[in-house]
Amino acid sequence: MSTNCRHVAWSEGDVYGFAGPIFGAEEDRRAHGGVSWTDTCRGCGARRGVNANQGWREEGPWGPSRSEREGDAARREAAAREAVASVPPLQTASLDSEGYVITSSKTLDDLPASWVEAAKRARRAVLVATAARRNV
Ligand SMILES: [Zn+2]
Repeated sequence: MSTNCRHVAWSEGDVYGFAGPIFGAEEDRRAHGGVSWTDTCRGCGARRGVNANQGWREEGPWGPSRSEREGDAARREAAAREAVASVPPLQTASLDSEGYVITSSKTLDDLPASWVEAAKRARRAVLVATAARRNV
């Protein structure tokens, strides 16, 4: 978490209907049942969830700054590239850069189990990296 930012909240993005308590917030049920949005810190880009109802507010803790999220995404992307590169091409199968298996086999059962496991790990790493990038 950002330690040097005093966090100045501003709101951008959608306001939507209450969907549930905010994880990590001190629960205030009076703030439930109304609307919710995400605050973004003007200084560092950290975000927090807010529930509001009739003047009552429930605010979640500030999350990582934008640069922290960016660093996390970059690390996960590097890990995904490494995971994909660590799966050697076979005569009958290989991975593309997104970790998808390219094969003429009708079923993964025709491929070595350890290779299939490595391919699954690589694809999972790509999905995790994609989610982290989307969260920046
Ligand atoms: Zn901040």
